[in-house]
Amino acid sequence: MKKIGVYTSGGDAPGMNAAIRAVVRTAVTKNIEVIGIMQGYVGMIENKMTPLLMRDMANIIQRGGTILKTGRSLEFLKPEFRKKASENLKSAGIEGLICIGGDGSFRGAQALFSEHKIPVIGICGTIDNDVFGTDDTIGFDTAINTALDAIDKIRDTADSHDRVFIVEVMGRNSGYIASHVGVAGGAEEILTPENILPVDKIIDRLKESRLRGKTSSIIVTAEGQKPGRAYDLADAIRKKSGLDAKVCILGHQQRGGSPTAHDRILASRLGSAAVLSLISGKSNMMIGNRGADLIEVSLDIVTKNEKHGDVTLIQLAKTLSV
Ligand code: ADP
Repeated sequence: MKKIGVYTSGGDAPGMNAAIRAVVRTAVTKNIEVIGIMQGYVGMIENKMTPLLMRDMANIIQRGGTILKTGRSLEFLKPEFRKKASENLKSAGIEGLICIGGDGSFRGAQALFSEHKIPVIGICGTIDNDVFGTDDTIGFDTAINTALDAIDKIRDTADSHDRVFIVEVMGRNSGYIASHVGVAGGAEEILTPENILPVDKIIDRLKESRLRGKTSSIIVTAEGQKPGRAYDLADAIRKKSGLDAKVCILGHQQRGGSPTAHDRILASRLGSAAVLSLISGKSNMMIGNRGADLIEVSLDIVTKNEKHGDVTLIQLAKTLSV
């Protein structure tokens, strides 16, 4: 293998740049040229590609976002556009790909492999940590620390005004961000797709906590399918209980910022391992981690399964927030 392509796709995540850097520097050290494909599958279809050199990777390990930009492409869902993408890759001399993204991006990578025989290795980059087959994804640690910083600040004002605050975090269909941030931030309730509670039950628990002497409460809720649902919950709590409930939606700030040490190290390890895996002849695999070990998991297994949130953490938060 003499030339490979790398791209970031789907939702951006802090640490993607550290992964790109690791891919480029590992490959170039092995005398392999690296082409950066801009905006994920958009750039693949529109032939937006640029060579990535060793020195281009200077000073990006600490930067959030992705220097390659990212994108979502509806066209790529159609076979004729995937054919166009594969022709562009082949005429650029690209013999293999490293895809940095979430499970949607991996589905695209799988299609390229099965339809056009382009070898591809996936690296899991998403703040949601919702990729099956790996403990961690690049960006998750940074996102939960960003959310935690906000929750710590919100607790000050919740406490001063004796208020209930509903803090909505990201995570699409996954409750990973909510459950981790909830435990770390000492939340009184954590609501996730795996832990849906009726409003009456939430109010009962808030009232019980008041009787135990609590004057303020933080409810962390995952955005789920409908970002902004925290407003509906706050309305219901106010109307049914008379408690003063405020909302804070953390939103896209959770995607940005300088990656934590954990994310930079994970991204560096995954990026380097992905290149070694690709040049050893492997394909259609994701590099992930189980504990301290890096693992290879077939993309077929990754994309056919769902990763469910950790309900033990939700139980722990409940036990500890007495
Ligand atoms: P993520 O990778 O963060 O999960 P998305 O789900 O938005 O992000 O997927 C990113 C892109 O991957 C989509 O815009 C689309 O171009 C491509 N993609 C997703 N699913 C498929 C699929 N089943 N077949 C081909 N391409 C896909």
